[in-house]
Amino acid sequence: MISVRDAVLGYGTRSFITAVNGVSLDIGSNEIVGVAGESGSGKSTLMRAIYGDFSTGLRLKGGSIRGTFEGYGTLDCSDMRRAWWDAVSYVPQGSMSVLNPLMKVEKQLLDGLPKRQRLAGRAAQRQDLEKFLAGLGLDASVLDAYPHQLSGGMRQRVLVAIAAYVSPKLILADEPTTALDVVVQKRILLMLVEIQRRLQNTLVLVSHDLGVHYQITDRLVIMYRGEVVETGATDEIFSNPQHDYTQRLIGALPDLAARRGAVS
Ligand code: ADP
Ligand code: MG
Repeated sequence: MISVRDAVLGYGTRSFITAVNGVSLDIGSNEIVGVAGESGSGKSTLMRAIYGDFSTGLRLKGGSIRGTFEGYGTLDCSDMRRAWWDAVSYVPQGSMSVLNPLMKVEKQLLDGLPKRQRLAGRAAQRQDLEKFLAGLGLDASVLDAYPHQLSGGMRQRVLVAIAAYVSPKLILADEPTTALDVVVQKRILLMLVEIQRRLQNTLVLVSHDLGVHYQITDRLVIMYRGEVVETGATDEIFSNPQHDYTQRLIGALPDLAARRGAVS
């Protein structure tokens, strides 16, 4: 579904700052893939590039990133925006900076939705939205709220819901549980798993927190200083980490056994 080959990514035109240095990666259908690694290791940069959002000054300097989706064929990352929402959607890092504080949730959701996905008539659209949110345990009242009226956890759930609304084949979720307390984290992880099971699609979950990955991912990609240092089945990596860096990350985690399968 996604094929990343020797990708070199960075920022700036005159002086190029490398953020991702020669990464190769395949993402298949119907799987939960975790991307882990400390802050600054290039996780968000890689997600932005896969999503094809180059608005931040991001550039692909070498290698290739391609996505293949039914109805779209194979798209280069520079064309990926053609497939936004229905094939690939994105939950960016930081719910407060992503949502427009001056706009009610319903309007933000509808303004972003491509015409091809809109239903005729506001009432029909509203009904469809409410039904969808209810299926995820969210009350219709969130649609009428401004972002600041929602808690951090609720805003994050709204972002996840927005990303999932038109049943994309691939959802990229960047640190969706970061800065939230454990109870709220768990609720969001449950929601992500529920969506993935229902849609039988692919979730790429980015988190610096290995404990989060341990709970729900099938496969893990470990990044360190702009490179992928290890990939493999999550169970395999936790029981037998190969790279020094992975060993250190896992060694620093308490109580793993108690967390495995805590979300199911
Ligand atoms: P992570 O998500 O793993 O914390 P990032 O992809 O955000 O890592 O950052 C990787 C590197 O790219 C860091 O050195 C960061 O400073 C740099 N970087 C990220 N975003 C930008 C940007 N918009 N402009 C310039 N440099 C950036
Ligand atoms: Mg990040």
